[in-house]
Amino acid sequence: MKIINTIEEISQITDRLKQEGKTIGFVPTMGALHKGHISLISRSKEENDVTICSIFVNPIQFNNKEDLEKYPIRTDEDILILEESNCDILFIPSQEEVYFEPATERFSFGKLEEVLEGKQRPGHFNGVATVVSRLFKWIKPNKAYFGEKDYQQVAIIKDMVKQLDMPIEIIPCPIIREEDGLAISSRNLLLSSDARKLAPKIHSILIKSAYQKDNLTFSQIKSFVSSEFKLIKEMDLEYFEIVDDETLQPITKKQENGVVGFIAVWLDGVRLIDIQRYY
Ligand code: AMP
Repeated sequence: MKIINTIEEISQITDRLKQEGKTIGFVPTMGALHKGHISLISRSKEENDVTICSIFVNPIQFNNKEDLEKYPIRTDEDILILEESNCDILFIPSQEEVYFEPATERFSFGKLEEVLEGKQRPGHFNGVATVVSRLFKWIKPNKAYFGEKDYQQVAIIKDMVKQLDMPIEIIPCPIIREEDGLAISSRNLLLSSDARKLAPKIHSILIKSAYQKDNLTFSQIKSFVSSEFKLIKEMDLEYFEIVDDETLQPITKKQENGVVGFIAVWLDGVRLIDIQRYY
């Protein structure tokens, strides 16, 4: 695997690949790689001639300084994992490299960013779009792979490529879970062992709520989820919302397709997110 640190070098390589008619699959990450990331790399390997992964902990998408400071950095392990996954190129730029020009980009995603993570984390998606648009410009992928664990991010990035008229196909990939159901996340590494044992409750409560979808209204499902979390004193439900899977706007009336629940929960000082499809 080639490891590249500069924009100049990655741009030259990807220009050459394009001239040779090779297709490029791109997987942007913030490192501390796990099976979720690897599933994106594997999908890209299947669908492209060359797979590029980036690792960059993007400070401007963190709306909380402590969250950024705590974010796990495991570059040596990440390199081994990527080598084992047969990733072709790792792009791992410094802060100065990515932000050689100040981040003055201002995106507008309308209603898509006014809800869920966008509402709870002001500026988060502008930070994500800033770094992803820069990476897309340098890497020029044919396809880019994103996990549905960050479902709203997929919607935002799809909208961003449309707005910027970038010829890049955005491929959403399913959530990979631990055996106990917890959605795999780099942030899981920050949980104490007791908290880690409790964390699968998030998925199991959502599954329990989905079993009852045909007998309850969405408002009753929301009440059920919130009452289940009230019983667990270690967990603090930040929000649970049931929305349309395309517009991401809250659904109140019965709808039997395209319905997804979004949740954010605090446990042991760590913010965990997940989703549950209802229809
Ligand atoms: P991150 O390093 O957290 O920024 O994630 C990089 C990419 O991996 C994003 O597109 C995430 O949605 C995706 N990802 C993270 N966790 C998972 C998971 N458990 N299953 C599938 N994709 C994931």
